[in-house]
Parts: sequence; structure tokens; C-alpha cells
Amino acid sequence: MIDDTPVFWSAPYQKEILAKIVEVNENELRFNQALFYPSGGGQPHDLGTMRYQGCTLPIIEVYTVDREIWHKTDSKEKIDFQVDEDVQLELNWNHRYNLMKSHTAQHLLSYFLQEMYECETIKANFDEGKIEIEISKALNLSDVVRVLEESNNRLEEDADVKSIIVNQKTFQEEYKSKIRGKTSDEKRVRMIQLGDFDLVCCGGVHVKKLSEVRGIFLETVKNRVIKLYTGEKGINYTNRQRANLHALEEITEKKDSKLFELVKNKLKENENLEEGNILLLRFLFQKIHHWSEKIQNYSVTLLDIPTLDRITVQAALKEVEEEIFIAITGKNAILYLISTNERIKANEVIDKIKEKTRAKGGGNKGFAQMSVKDIEEPLQLVREVLSSL
Ligand SMILES: [Zn+2]
Repeated sequence: MIDDTPVFWSAPYQKEILAKIVEVNENELRFNQALFYPSGGGQPHDLGTMRYQGCTLPIIEVYTVDREIWHKTDSKEKIDFQVDEDVQLELNWNHRYNLMKSHTAQHLLSYFLQEMYECETIKANFDEGKIEIEISKALNLSDVVRVLEESNNRLEEDADVKSIIVNQKTFQEEYKSKIRGKTSDEKRVRMIQLGDFDLVCCGGVHVKKLSEVRGIFLETVKNRVIKLYTGEKGINYTNRQRANLHALEEITEKKDSKLFELVKNKLKENENLEEGNILLLRFLFQKIHHWSEKIQNYSVTLLDIPTLDRITVQAALKEVEEEIFIAITGKNAILYLISTNERIKANEVIDKIKEKTRAKGGGNKGFAQMSVKDIEEPLQLVREVLSSL
């Protein structure tokens, strides 16, 4: 009997192998050994090279057709591949090993998602050092963090990751009832067991020991999709995020025109991102005194943000700091005046502008607006009015 167990199942740490060509279709080849994992199950295919008659050629795609694994190679000149000839296959090990780590990490996360929140894994995608898991119900951030804590603790315990291959009959009799998730109706069933706690049907590639994953790190949780990093990628990502946060903390403690410009420009870019703009504007309003000027003895900020609409301004209003006066020219040439300073009333400033122009508008002492279509420099006019108070 021929043992046709793929090498990526029986020996996932094997990096190279001597194989024979069994079928050729121009630059696409089939070999008698399956060293390269074909794309499938959310995992990208392996990459690597083949040495054939003294040439080293890259393997750029690996895929399955009718259960047979095909390898697409790339070469500048046309090569006449012959069936039965030897080829030396070699994996891009870094790429493969990172996928093995991410894939194993996903098993562990999916186990705890199910165990702790009865949350099923609908779909998982992997890339080098990256995981994306779609789950069956929305979890909040703190729940996901708890799943990560449990998972990372398990990595420390360093359980074995075992590959079990049985025929369908044995699977039915001994394993089927213990499987988490989907079962398999294949003639030959491949299962992956983590320690003594999790058993799933899976045809992917995995590490031998959980500790090899070296940590799972959160990127985002959004609409039932959790994005994560593993290993070095995760460590670097987390450190970078920490550094960014630190830089932001420092900047927001002082007057920094770069941050101010950045937020303002983002507001201009995000024309259709209402929610994003509200968050940005709130942020701006919370820190607005950093960027205010003194007119008379009042702290005043004058802004021109031509994409800003009334809904966004009003949604961010309650974040405005105390003792400040803000004038913004927004979308459709509307001037918004916001005051948290008892001594300057927004509607009174509007009335003063009305005396000088024919513009229409009104409001209350905290918030007022007017159309400034026909006024050339409305913010300059606000400055003049405030200076004359
Ligand atoms: Zn797997």
C-alpha cells in the first residue's frame, strides 16, 4: 500500500525533500510528495523553491484540483519539465513556521471562545503572524481580553499539539462525539488535539508544542471579527502601539500644532465618516484650550473645517472645555459659535454680526449658527466682534 499521507501532515517540520515529477502542465507541476501546503481552510499556501536540472525556481502558488496538489512555478525562460525526473523541494520555512504558529493559536482561541462564551468560530483566516477570526456572536472587548488571557496562560503550560489520522469507521466509533466544531466525512480523517482538552478535525499545519506560538496579541474587535497577532509580530505591534500612545499622551499635554493640524486634516478627509468625525471633534474640543488665542481676555479658537456638518458639531458639543469660545466655519458656509464662557454669549455675537451684515442666524448663549455665504472672511469678522465687546 502506498502511504500518501502528505508530508505537511506527517512531518510538518520537514523543510526540504527529494521528490519526483508525476504530471506536468506547462509551468504547473504535480509531485509524488506533498511538502507544500495548498491554499485552503483560511490558510495561504506555502512558498518555496524547486531545484530542477541545476535551476532553482520559485514555487509561487500551490492549490488543489480534485484532491491533487498542483504547484505553479515561475521562470523567465520556458523549461521542458519531464515526468519521473527528480526535483529538490524546499520550503520558505519562515513563512510556513509563522503560519503554523498562527493556525495553532487559532485552535486555542476558538476553544476558549466556545468554552467561556459558547461562541463558535465561523471562519478563520491566517497570514504570517496574523489571525482573523469571525465568531458567531458579538463579544465585548473585555470578554475577548479574557479569552486572550486564558489562551496565553495555556501557552505557558506548553501542552503538546498532536496530529491524529484515522479512517472514517474509527472516527465514527471513537472520536466523533468528542469533536469541537465540524466533523469530517472524509475516508481518512485528520484531527488535531491540544493537550488533553481540545479535539477538532483539521487538515492544516500546526506546531508541536503550544509554547512555540510565543504569545497572542489583540489588534481589534469589530462586528464579530477579532484580529490578532502572534509571536514576534505581536510583540512588535504591541510595543509600537504603546509607543504611539505614549507619544499621543505627551502631545496632548501641551500645545502642539502638529496634532491640531492632523486632527483638522482628518476631519476634512472624512467627509462621509460621521461617527469618526464626531470622535475626532470631541477629541479636539476636549483639548481645545491648547490651541486657543486670547482676544480681550477670552480664550478663543477659530476653525475652518469646510466638511463639518451641524449633526457632527452638536454631537461633540458636550465635550467642549470650560471657559472657551469656538467659532467654526463648516459645510455649506455655516458659521457655528460655541461658548462655555458665561461672559460671551454665542447668540449675542451672532446679533452683532447681523448688525454689520445681512446674514441670518440665531441660537442661544451656548450654541448659535448663521449662514455666512455672503461674508468674505467670517472668522475675521468674529475676531473683530469679539475685540469690540
Ligand atoms: Zn488546524
